[in-house]
Amino acid sequence: MNAADRAVLDDFHALSALGATEAGGVERQAATEADRQTREWLVDWLTTRGFTTTVDRIGNLFGLREWTPGAPFVLVGSHLDSQPRGGRYDGAYGVLAAAHAVQRVHERFASSGETPPFNAAVVNWFNEEGSRFKPSMMGSAVYTGKMPLEEALAVTDLDGVSVEEALARIGFLGEQDGPRAAFAAEIHIEQGRVLDKEGIQIGLVESNWAAHKYQISVVGAQSHTGSTVMADRQDALLGAARVIVAVRELVDRFPDTPLHTSAGQLFVHPNSPVVVAREAELHLDLRSESLEVLQEADAILNREFAAIEASTNVKIVKKSAHFWPVNPYQPEGVELAREAAEALGLSHRPMLTLAGHDSTNLKDIVPTVMLFVPSVEGISHNEHEFTHDEDICAGVNLLTEVVARLCRGDLRS
Ligand SMILES: [Zn+2]
Repeated sequence: MNAADRAVLDDFHALSALGATEAGGVERQAATEADRQTREWLVDWLTTRGFTTTVDRIGNLFGLREWTPGAPFVLVGSHLDSQPRGGRYDGAYGVLAAAHAVQRVHERFASSGETPPFNAAVVNWFNEEGSRFKPSMMGSAVYTGKMPLEEALAVTDLDGVSVEEALARIGFLGEQDGPRAAFAAEIHIEQGRVLDKEGIQIGLVESNWAAHKYQISVVGAQSHTGSTVMADRQDALLGAARVIVAVRELVDRFPDTPLHTSAGQLFVHPNSPVVVAREAELHLDLRSESLEVLQEADAILNREFAAIEASTNVKIVKKSAHFWPVNPYQPEGVELAREAAEALGLSHRPMLTLAGHDSTNLKDIVPTVMLFVPSVEGISHNEHEFTHDEDICAGVNLLTEVVARLCRGDLRS
C-alpha cells in the first residue's frame, strides 16, 4: 500500500470516530452536533491544504480549487450526514474520496504546470439522508433549483426546529450561492450486493430507479378500547396495518420486474394503550426501474386504499408526495469513467442505482459521473455497513482520474 492510500484510510478512520456508535456505525443526522463536528473536521482538512471553503444558503459546504479564475467548477462530493444508527461509509466515503481526489489533481497540475479550463470543488451536500428533515437530498435539490430555498429552510424536525435554525445553531448557514457547476462527480458505496457477489471493483452508474414516496394519514375516531362495541370502531391503527400489508403485497403482483416497497415510519395518535387510535401517519416508499410498473403499482395501491377505507371505516388522506423518474446519467460521462477505469486496470460493470443520491439531482443540470464501490453483503443504513480497504482506495484512484479528465475538458458529447 502506498502513502496516498494510507492517507485515505487514516483520514477515513479519523472521520469515522466522529458521531461513532458503540456497534461500529455513526449517527450524524443533518445539522446536529455530530454533523457540525464532521463539517469542522472537513473544513480543517481543506484549509490546511490551501482550499478556500464556503457555505451556501442551504448549508452545502464547498472546498474550492480555482486554477482558472472565473471558470465554472467540477463539483465532486457526497454527504457527511447519516441515518440514525447509520453506517460509516454511506456518504462520508464519497466526501472524503472527493477531498483526496481534488487534492491529488491539484498536485498533478501544480507539478506539470498545466492550467486546466475548469476548476474543482469538494462538496458536502446538506441533508442527503432526509431522516431529521424531509425530503432527502435537500441541499442538492436547492442547489439545482428543484426545491425553493425558503421552503427548505422552513422544514421542521419532530421537535419543531427548522432547517434554518438548526444550520444557524451549528454555524453553517451561509449567505451566498455555491460555485457555478460545469460538471459533477460522486462516488458512493453500492448499498446492494451486485459488485460484492460478482467480485467487480467499480460500478459505472447509468441510471437511477424511479421512486415514489408519500406521506399518508389514516383518519379514524378516538374511542375507548374496552367499552366501544366492535362495530362502532374507526380504528386508524388497524387501517394503517392494512396499508402496510397492502404496500408489501404490491411486490407480488409484479413477479417479472423488481419493485421495492416499504412503510418506513409510523406515528400513532394519541398512542395510548387504552385508546382506539384516531389517526396514524405513515411514510410509504415505492421504487422500480420501470416507470410503468411504478405507476401501475400506485394505481393498485389507490384501489387498495378505497377497499381498506370501506373495510375498516377510516379515511385515507394523501398528505404529501415526492417523486423522481427513471433518468439516465449522460452516456458520455459513463464512457469517460469507463475509459478511466480501463486505464487504471480496474474491473467494472454498468449498473443502476436503486437509492437516490445527490448526483441524481446534479445530473439534471450538468453532465454527471456516478461511481460505486462494493458494499460487503449489500448492507446499508446499518451500523455493520462495510467496504474493504482495497476497494476504498481503488475508488479514490478512479475518482481522481475522472476528476482530472473532467477538469481538462475531456468530456465529449
Ligand atoms: Zn448516501
